[in-house]
Amino acid sequence: MNSNLTVQRIAGRASDIGGGMVVLRAVPTRQRRMIGAWCFLDHLGPVDFPAAQGMHVGAHPHIGLQTFTWLIEGEVLHRDSLGSEQIIRPGQVNLMTAGHGVVHTEDSLVGGQRLHAAQLWIALPANAADCPPAFEHFPDLPRWSEGAATLTLLAGSYAGRRMSASFHTPLVGLDAWSLSGGALRLSLDPGFEHGFFVLEGEMQLAGERYVLDELAYLPPGATELTLELAPGSRLLLVGGVPFAEPVLMFWNFVGHDKASIAAAWRDWQAGAARFGPVAGGEDRRLAAPPLPWVGV
Ligand code: MN
Repeated sequence: MNSNLTVQRIAGRASDIGGGMVVLRAVPTRQRRMIGAWCFLDHLGPVDFPAAQGMHVGAHPHIGLQTFTWLIEGEVLHRDSLGSEQIIRPGQVNLMTAGHGVVHTEDSLVGGQRLHAAQLWIALPANAADCPPAFEHFPDLPRWSEGAATLTLLAGSYAGRRMSASFHTPLVGLDAWSLSGGALRLSLDPGFEHGFFVLEGEMQLAGERYVLDELAYLPPGATELTLELAPGSRLLLVGGVPFAEPVLMFWNFVGHDKASIAAAWRDWQAGAARFGPVAGGEDRRLAAPPLPWVGV
């Protein structure tokens, strides 16, 4: 690693997302609003739900972003206003492009089950923010061994491998898991900023120890980095070109101006056509909090 780059330590903060889930949120925090286009990073669990319980998130809208789910343990049923109905299982990714507007629900498949996942949002640039919504499921991701770790490419390209989803800005997502622990040398795109988030166990990075739910942020400029995973550790790497445009986030909406977010808020309240029904979700629509701005 280029020795004049400073690594920033960011601790995740607990956040109640409703539906029986408290998550650890690493992005956005006061210190770090985004990493490339990644504008949201929640760590769900691992949690063992009591019998007959699970995660149940009622119908809620999104605009201006892609939701990205990386499932490590458990099974979750995704349903949306496009008519998608998809079970996601360990080792798989769901990518929902909200664009102009979409509504979805997320439900544990079986009560009393263990759940462990990372849920991220990817901000869409202004020229794609209003695109038609879409949903994609990725059951088979590029996966290979490197030293003592198993790497899974979750998004973008890495070391000659490519994940097949199309994104609107250059980015990468990578999971590294190691049972025995050991050194892991990562190649990095020097045009990207990167975040290294501990999903299980702990790691040593640039001479510092990072424990569960801590994020190490590295600014652009590095072409490689060697870190040390403790036995039984899992790392989530996210990176991308620093986002050039200002991004506003309110509730489940991402936008580039207050007016577009206020319009989405009003459309959700009014039950407008762009936020259509979800099978099994109409009796549990989530209420939007009041808009924080007056007169938009
Ligand atoms: Mn959502």
